[in-house]
Amino acid sequence: MVVVLKTVPEGEGGRFEADAGLPSLAGAGRDELAAAFASIGVPERQRRMRVGQLWSWIYARGVRSFEDMTDVSKDLRAVLEGAFSLERPEIVSEQISQDGTRKWLLRLPRRGHEAHAPEVETVYIPESDRGTLCISSQVGCTLTCTFCHTGTQKLVRNLTQAEIVGQILLARDRIGDWPGAHSPDDGGRLPESDRKITNIVLMGMGEPLYNFDNVRDAMAIAADSGGLAHSRRRITLSTSGVVPEIGRWGEEAGTMLAISLHAVTDELRDVLVPINRKYPIKELLNACRNYPGLSNARRITFEYVMLKGVNDGLADARALVRLLAGIPAKINLIPFNAWPGADYECSQWEQIERFAEIVNKAGYASPVRTPRGRDILAACGQLKSASLKLRASERLPVVLPAGETE
Ligand code: SAH
Ligand code: SF4
Repeated sequence: MVVVLKTVPEGEGGRFEADAGLPSLAGAGRDELAAAFASIGVPERQRRMRVGQLWSWIYARGVRSFEDMTDVSKDLRAVLEGAFSLERPEIVSEQISQDGTRKWLLRLPRRGHEAHAPEVETVYIPESDRGTLCISSQVGCTLTCTFCHTGTQKLVRNLTQAEIVGQILLARDRIGDWPGAHSPDDGGRLPESDRKITNIVLMGMGEPLYNFDNVRDAMAIAADSGGLAHSRRRITLSTSGVVPEIGRWGEEAGTMLAISLHAVTDELRDVLVPINRKYPIKELLNACRNYPGLSNARRITFEYVMLKGVNDGLADARALVRLLAGIPAKINLIPFNAWPGADYECSQWEQIERFAEIVNKAGYASPVRTPRGRDILAACGQLKSASLKLRASERLPVVLPAGETE
């Protein structure tokens, strides 16, 4: 069953549409909040304290109205209300998969010459003991990995820091992951953990290291212990291998790292992950060996998509193990998720098992990533494929799941 909770045709407005009139402070950093206070005449000596108050309301408690900020004076609340909003990115649709995976299609403000408002997707994957939020860093991607649907789309633009943080805020709104908030009745599919989003992965649309500053600043807000408080050890950046930025990411952001390896020879990786022609496997693995903070407790995840007859031979498995020798690593085997027009097929299940066995025997934990949300095209590499084809008029009608009201 696919439930489309909300659809808002472009330009028609609606409850989730951002208030174009007022700049939103949701997603702002401390400096931007201080500048906002300066712009409404709050004296400099008060700003630090005011920023602290707002920070806690926006990021620790998730309020969506200045009205609710009870320790801010009534007068100041009114001024804030008149000058700013706390809007999140606009939700065009929310789909809930059979397995509880949720996918939000978001519409971002149009910039300059853009003909259409760009759209990106955010995916939430609940498991019994954890919940992972997969966020996007770019609209489309400049890279052209041949098995990835996002790679067939042109880059439209980088997401701003606020748009990246905004994905976390709206996911928390929708699944009730704020202190004291009610979670939706989800038929027991939300995790049992106190927090519903325990992990963040930068594995949605785009190459996050090509939007370095915005992603880094957004993750600093996500990790701030007085606010969203996502530990950097539970944030993972996935890269196709932008070698010159890997060490810098470790130094400046210090999150966990995942590498989209997918092949053990340059010959094949040049085809599957074309950035390999610029930064071949040897250079990539050297950058990994030097990743700041790397240790057995903080391993790098190597992602390996299983493509039938292409990279799934047992000789590939043995070569993979040899290649990664000496690097504290986890190997994540990802069954290929098909999309319309793809030139590849997913490996046979028995082949994936045989491949995993070799990797396991060599001492690597190698979980096979269970495809999640395939029925709503929310699985790895499928993002945007459905929404691109569906014009607003063709999207499914609004259906509210039992227990949810507008
Ligand atoms: N651009 C970054 C992060 C986004 S992709 C990167 O490439 O790492 C997240 C993961 O999904 C990557 O490992 C990517 O290779 C993988 N992926 C892409 N298309 C896929 C598909 N069709 N099936 C399975 N995994 C896919
Ligand atoms: Fe871009 Fe990653 Fe897809 Fe490659 S796999 S095209 S880098 S999003």
